[in-house]
Amino acid sequence: MHTVLTLGTLADNYTYVVESQGEAVVIDPGEASPVLRTLESSGASLLAVLCTHGHFDHTGGNEELSRRTGCEVLLPDTSGADRMVAVGPFEFTVLGTPGHSADSVCFYLPKTDGQPGDVFTGDTLFCGGCGRVFTRSPEAMWASLRKLAVLPPDTRVFCGHDYTLENYEFAVTVEPGNPVVEARLEEARRLAADGSITVPSTIAAERDTNVFLRAGDPKLRRVLGMEQATDAEVFAEVRRRKDRF
Ligand SMILES: [Zn+2]
Repeated sequence: MHTVLTLGTLADNYTYVVESQGEAVVIDPGEASPVLRTLESSGASLLAVLCTHGHFDHTGGNEELSRRTGCEVLLPDTSGADRMVAVGPFEFTVLGTPGHSADSVCFYLPKTDGQPGDVFTGDTLFCGGCGRVFTRSPEAMWASLRKLAVLPPDTRVFCGHDYTLENYEFAVTVEPGNPVVEARLEEARRLAADGSITVPSTIAAERDTNVFLRAGDPKLRRVLGMEQATDAEVFAEVRRRKDRF
């Protein structure tokens, strides 16, 4: 069993401290001090920093955390291949998910007896959205998103930024009148008004309401007038609209 602590860092980043039996790893420390404060109050020792990609807002705390705690720093590579990384009690599957950046990966902790799986998606998949495609093609990004969409439906999704409200405000412009998407927008508005965090989501909720994951959905394709297009073309069109939103 492990716990996931969600920390708000920088302007709108999420940093995660995953703890089990006094040991911890941190994912995407945009800055060090909130992580150090969290470790101090829990008493857990930091084994490693894992980064979903090399952008500064996901790695800014690495140097200080390494210096202050002696932890390992594990940066992703650009192979795009899936692999295992074992750190203390944690066995992560590292999913190669290039698209937002060439080195983008997601960290997956599979389901165990009393706990659903967890996936840490960085800037690849957001609640209701996905990252901008800075490198690689929309086809590559679509393939990366598909890799996440086929994880077990109850997998909890911990993403790299809180863009949830904006993502659902965008989604209803693409597909007005979809009741499931409108319900998610209402929920995002409520959470924003309370100043609450919007993670975790689940793979099931993202498959149902994330317009970027629904490129194969006949209803969405009809609304866009793209019944004959490939899924990757539908994804690319939705991404283009979001870039201009
Ligand atoms: Zn990024």
